[in-house]
Parts: sequence; C-alpha cells; structure tokens
Amino acid sequence: MIPVTGFEGAKVAVLGLGRSGFATARALREGGAEPVCWDDNPGARARAEVEGFVCRDLLKAGAFDDIASLVVSPGIPHLYPKPNPVIRAAMVAGVPVDNDIGLFFRSVATRGWERFDQAPRIVAVTGSNGKSTTVALLHHILQEAGRESQLAGNIGRGVLDIDPPGSGGIVVLELSSYQTDLARALTPDVAVFTNLSPDHLDRHAGMGGYFAAKRRLFAEGGPDRAIIGVDEDEGLYLAGQLAEASSDDRVIRVSASQKLTGPGWQVFARKGFLSEYRKGRQAASIDLRQMQGLPGAHNHQNACAAYAAARALGLAPRLIEDALASYPGLPHRSQTIATHAGVRYVNDSKATNLDSAVKALSAFDNIRWICGGLEKDGGLEALRGQTGKVRKAYVIGREAAGFAMQLDVEAEVCITMAEAVARASAEAETGDTVLLAPAAASFDQYDNFEQRGEDFIAEVAKLRG
Ligand code: ADP
Repeated sequence: MIPVTGFEGAKVAVLGLGRSGFATARALREGGAEPVCWDDNPGARARAEVEGFVCRDLLKAGAFDDIASLVVSPGIPHLYPKPNPVIRAAMVAGVPVDNDIGLFFRSVATRGWERFDQAPRIVAVTGSNGKSTTVALLHHILQEAGRESQLAGNIGRGVLDIDPPGSGGIVVLELSSYQTDLARALTPDVAVFTNLSPDHLDRHAGMGGYFAAKRRLFAEGGPDRAIIGVDEDEGLYLAGQLAEASSDDRVIRVSASQKLTGPGWQVFARKGFLSEYRKGRQAASIDLRQMQGLPGAHNHQNACAAYAAARALGLAPRLIEDALASYPGLPHRSQTIATHAGVRYVNDSKATNLDSAVKALSAFDNIRWICGGLEKDGGLEALRGQTGKVRKAYVIGREAAGFAMQLDVEAEVCITMAEAVARASAEAETGDTVLLAPAAASFDQYDNFEQRGEDFIAEVAKLRG
C-alpha cells in the first residue's frame, strides 16, 4: 500500500466505494488522515463500516464544513454530462476534488528513496485504444529483463494498493481520460499517448474535452520523456507542442503507418517491421510478423509504444525483441481462443468502440464478424468502407436489427451470442476467422466486456461437443 501523505489529522471525503474507493480509504487512514466515506449503495456503506470507516451523507447541509478534500471514483461524472450532486456540493463549498491517481503522485516518493541506488520511475500510459496492451507488454518486457515492475491503474492493482517501489523499481500505470482529467497531481517520469479516436464523448462534452483530458498527463507534470503516437492530428500537435525543436529527444514519436524521419527520436512500424531511429541513425529493426501475441497493425503500434518506453527506461533493443516474442497477449484483445475445422476463433470483446473494431477487422482475413451491442454516441459511420475483409456480419444485442441496417456488408440479426456463434460457425469455411469485435459497449446484455468475451468463449467451447 502507498500511505497517502499531506492529510495527517485531516478529514478527507471518499465518494464511491468500489475497489479503488476502498483502497483510497485504507491508504488515507494508513497515512494518518480520517476518511469520511459515502456511496449511494447501502451495501457498500455497510462493508465500509465493517472495516471501521465512518460514513456520512455528503449531500446533507454542512457536510463539507470540516472536509479538506473530496476523492472520487472514476465512474462518477465530475463535470459532464453533469456533475454528480456530491461533487457539485464540494465545488460549491470550495473543497478541492481529486482522485486516487492524484493522491498517488503526491504520496509515492518518500524520504526512503534518498537511500536508493536508483530512483524508482513511474510510467503512465493514456490514449483511446491500446492502453492495456501497451502497459501489459511493457510490464512483461521489464519482468523479462529482470526489473522490478508493478502494473496498476485501470489494469492490475489500484494505484494506492501497490507495494512501495524499491530501488530502481518501475510502476507502470494505465490511465483513462476520466483519471487524467481529475487528478490534481500528474507527474510520471515517462508518459505515453497511444492514439486518439472518439470514445466516452458524453463524459467530456465532445472530442476537444476528451483530448484536453488526456493532454493533462503531459501538460501538468512535464515528464522527462513523452512517447506520442502521431498517426492522428491530435498526437502530431501534442508532440510538436512538447518538443523545443525537431531534434528534441525528450519526445519519442511513434507511428504504425508512416516512416518517421528527422533528427529526433522515433519508433515506427511498417510492413510488420519495427524501426527505431535516433539522431538520424537507425538503432534497431525488429520483425513483428511472427509475434503471436501481437497480431495486426494496431498491435504493432502498441509494440512500438512499449518498445519506446522500455528504451526510455534504458533497456537494450535485443532484450526487448526477445520479450516481444514471448508476450502472451491479454484476454479479450485479439485473443485466439480455438481453431476448429480450419476456422480460427478470435475474442476481441474489448473492441467496444468503432476504431478498435476497425483495427481488429484489418488484422484478419475472411472474417465472420460478430458485432453489435450498445451503440456509442456518433453512430456507426466510421465503420463504412472498413468491412472489405468481412464475409458476413452476425449481429448481437438488443438493438441488433437497427445495428445491422447501418452496416455496409451482409448482416444477419442474431441477437444472442449463442445464435451468432452457431450461425457463424455453421457458415464458416476453412481459412475463415470468426471474430468477436462488437464495435459497441456490452451493457445491454452483459455486466462488462469480460463477461461478453467469456460468453463467446463458452459458446465456442460447445462447438467441440
Ligand atoms: P484500452 O486499455 O485502451 O482499452 P486495449 O489494449 O485493452 O486498450 O485494447 C482495446 C481494444 O482496442 C481491443 O479491442 C484491441 O484489440 C484494440 N486495440 C488495441 N490496440 C489498439 C491500437 N493501438 N489502436 C486501435 N485499437 C487497438
């Protein structure tokens, strides 16, 4: 645990008692603060009281009179579409609003670090897609290299739950836009921006707000190295803004589509090869095509970002290359789960937005595409023209008929996963890939994308019987 410092003897309100809320309350108490907890759910409050935490209805008049700060969970809107009433009450009372990420950055460095041979370093990754893959890959590379590494944030443990890093230890954080938007301290040593495409627009009042939330990771803390995907204009703009000159190698530019030249530092993937250039000279070339855990150009982008971060941390190219080859992949992301009768079954349930689904569609051939679910704001326009490798779509979800009508490829309305898997496998021929890449959220039929992926896996397993 990372005890929270700076609030000794003070009352700090904690709103939302999920996994990160409990970790926050414990870390505040450990650091000498008095957490004052609240969650609309009485069951969560009861669990907090069992742990000895004080609960208080933060909507009552005067509830914030003695509170130094309010710490909120990422699922709770702080501004758009409109602020949660408790957060609004804190703002009215002039109480600073923060989250566990802000507390972590304030508290992680301790006096003890002065005795270390090598200071610990924090790597933080944000972006629309590829964050989990990039952090998991970097964590794997560091472990293969024998370095102490901990994975936290949106993936792995809650940030305040990790062990205090030791000498030379690395903490690899995955940060969502909700987290970077609110954190009052954001000071990673290495910061990574994978890419940007529309997602969660309701929480950020559109694309500008969404980009601004991610940009804070770079603007607030001034990381020593910024690794920026420059395949979209936003990344290009950000890289330009952070660099003093084209030769400024505090910025490492990353691309999955273009050769990057210039006097600075860059890592790019083209035609399945990763290249690193620094000061105009090639420093490495790696064949990514045989890397089982990293199929498709989108994963090559993730490989470039993780590679660049590992280089920024001082690892040698050869070591990183070996670790890329042994990366096993994450569940629900480009995960090959079975091959039956020459047909490959791939679970990419995490493709909850249009861009990730488009990327999945470009990574495979002869696709029997299982898609649909709760449509994201903005419609399905971005899927048009991207279905060239799809033989047929099998649409799931409560609104499957409406979803199917918007596709520019033959589509069958299946509604359930069971029906979609049965129909896709019945029609699949040798060499086809049955791909679950929904391009939609799962909440109309499932609790989360993991459950949707598990359902797909279970249905595919039945095919064997
Ligand atoms: P995140 O944590 O940002 O959601 P993941 O690594 O979990 O990222 O991947 C989310 C989805 O996006 C998966 O469907 C995955 O196949 C796809 N994806 C992974 N990397 C990229 C990328 N670089 N660009 C676009 N889509 C990607």
